[in-house]
Amino acid sequence: MDLSLIRNQMRKTQATIFEKGFALELRDAVVNDGVRAMMESALTARDRVGVQDFVLLENHTSEVAFIENLRKRFKENLIYTYIGSVLVSVNPYKDLEIYTKQHMERYRGVNFYEVSPHIYAISDNAYRSMRTERRDQCILISGESGAGKTEASKKVLQYYAVTCPASGHVETVKDRLLQSNPVLEAFGNAKTLRNDNSSRFGKYMDIQFDFKGAPVGGHIINYLLEKSRVVHQSHGERNFHIFYQLIEGGEEDLLRRLGLERTPQQYQYLVKGQCPKVSSINDRNEWKVVRKALTVIGFSDDEVEELLNIIASVLHLGNVQFGGEDGGNAYITTDTQIKYLARLLNVDGSVLREALTHKKIIAKGEELMSPLNQEQAGAARDALSKAVYGRTFTWLVNKINASLAFKETSKNASVIGLLDIYGFEVFQNNSFEQFCINYCNEKLQQLFIELTLKSEQEEYEAEGITWEPVQYFNNKIICDLVEEKFKGIISILDEECLRPGDASDLTFLEKLEKTLGGHAHFVTHKLADGKTRKMMGREDFRMIHYAGEVNYNVNGFLDKNNDLLFRNLKEVMCLSENKILTQCFDREELTDKKRPETAATQFKNSLAKLMEILMSKEPSYVRCIKPNDAKQAGRFDEVLIRHQVKYLGLMENLRVRRAGFAYRRRYEIFLQRYKSLCPDTWPSWDGRLVDGVSTLVKHLGYKPEEYKLGRSKIFIRFPKTLFATEDALETR
Ligand code: ADP
Ligand code: MG
Repeated sequence: MDLSLIRNQMRKTQATIFEKGFALELRDAVVNDGVRAMMESALTARDRVGVQDFVLLENHTSEVAFIENLRKRFKENLIYTYIGSVLVSVNPYKDLEIYTKQHMERYRGVNFYEVSPHIYAISDNAYRSMRTERRDQCILISGESGAGKTEASKKVLQYYAVTCPASGHVETVKDRLLQSNPVLEAFGNAKTLRNDNSSRFGKYMDIQFDFKGAPVGGHIINYLLEKSRVVHQSHGERNFHIFYQLIEGGEEDLLRRLGLERTPQQYQYLVKGQCPKVSSINDRNEWKVVRKALTVIGFSDDEVEELLNIIASVLHLGNVQFGGEDGGNAYITTDTQIKYLARLLNVDGSVLREALTHKKIIAKGEELMSPLNQEQAGAARDALSKAVYGRTFTWLVNKINASLAFKETSKNASVIGLLDIYGFEVFQNNSFEQFCINYCNEKLQQLFIELTLKSEQEEYEAEGITWEPVQYFNNKIICDLVEEKFKGIISILDEECLRPGDASDLTFLEKLEKTLGGHAHFVTHKLADGKTRKMMGREDFRMIHYAGEVNYNVNGFLDKNNDLLFRNLKEVMCLSENKILTQCFDREELTDKKRPETAATQFKNSLAKLMEILMSKEPSYVRCIKPNDAKQAGRFDEVLIRHQVKYLGLMENLRVRRAGFAYRRRYEIFLQRYKSLCPDTWPSWDGRLVDGVSTLVKHLGYKPEEYKLGRSKIFIRFPKTLFATEDALETR
């Protein structure tokens, strides 16, 4: 199909807005039904595929129109749509032929709006901004579980791996960057009800480029691994992939050495969710992929051996059972497991045995071993498993970072950061994890406000442009509610965690009520007049997030925040001669009198650091949407999608975008590019730049409401204006 044919067709029918990318999409859409579609007018074709930028929607305040546009495009397999420069992506749940090398080429070095919306366009745009403006970039990918965030981040990485120049050792860096994914996914992803390959940790990755634009290094920061999954999974969910991969794919002699059987059902930690096998996952193949990736990244055979010793140990730990029913002292009934553990972890079996059944307490300066009961011993065992796995994961990330480290001393590296992090979570029952995740999303919204809204309005001011300030809700008040010193929820939680005596989840809730009652974004079941609010549990507090209300159940908040491992178990691990564990459990920890930071405070601090990193960069946004809960292709569940449009703040995005100016160009750049379109500015303009630009755009027929002239830049309200100019340049 000839592109120019469609263009002419569209011109003839006087399509109100013309976009080149749209024409390309149109071509893709009509290729299937050939002649009939050729006969269709461009307008009805537009009806079919919708608009590629929500800014172009006629009724841009209507959520119905917004969702209708998404639906139309989704039906045509057009999963990407813009809101200005924000990319909205709907998970197709099927492989589309849009990620080939030809597609990559199509997006390379092409202006954002000249091709149809694509994750490659975002990638390319960020890359070019980094190169031409020498400004570090970041691509922020958000959306709920299963919406396609991780796939999107992999597409970005692949795009750079294929299209960026290479030289010398760059090939190894590219390989390592790509291969870090299967490793991190094996250890950090799991099958959940929402996603068969759900990332159970947040991830920020820097890709470093040298002065030639070749990727030369990388760095990964991980956030809040869901350690509890190691010891427990809900029905229909699995533990982390690596356990099943090892059991299904591990070589005979390897399994023998590790004391493992090829039956996942045999391991307590693998049966909680009752689904060791998943049809969409081939654990045996994945094992090979992961094993190879470990080698590419530069893990030595010894390191892999030690790593697998730890993974196997966790499985053995899960099978350690305790006797001592009816409240008696716990004793271990499973000797074989202890034997394996002693060997694999390289620790003394009898010390481990004692540590699993006792708690060391210090009374009057003396150390005492106080016996645990059966239930306590089980909890201690699980805490150990979580600690071992969690710290090993951190070690793994550090190890990958060492292998990706940019070795050259040249400080000229530019950076593109990729953030793949959990979106807002609102479940039937929300706990500490959702609290942290939603707090993270509030911080990201703050960042969005700081980087986009505020800076945009500040620029108008600096340029002396008259504009109508866009009203937006500044969610700083909610961030403060969570993180403020002394008064914030995290401070209050930490205080309760530190307080000896009767502190409990409920006293924590009481303290919240006392300190925060009356806050505009905080509610409990207690009303000011002493009455009880209906529809709210007595163990709940509600936060009015920027995206909506969420109830949190305080049950487990203290334990999860404390994240304690008994001292004697820590001691055992510190004595381990497993080379990885010696790095994970530092002996200094034992002598350090300072209390370790709580989980929430650690998370708060790591988020603060993340914000700092992101603030120094220019952001691009990818908002991912999950079309249905059944993981099925072709199903567009409107209720579910409306919910996500709301929690992703897309309507607000659009409103702000419409109110502002889509484009801005410095006068000299604008003039340089388009001066040939006007006899008065061609071949050169001698007067003031602003007058040259003014002459030029008047000649081009820009209407006064379409643009504004600032101190150093021209501001153009709608993309279509610039498209028309670009078009004129081409058909001149
Ligand atoms: P998230 O990271 O947001 O939880 P994932 O990126 O893991 O979600 O996506 C979940 C699943 O959806 C993937 O395993 C894949 O099967 C499918 N998927 C996501 N994005 C795409 C895409 N662009 N094309 C095809 N399938 C996709
Ligand atoms: Mg993911």
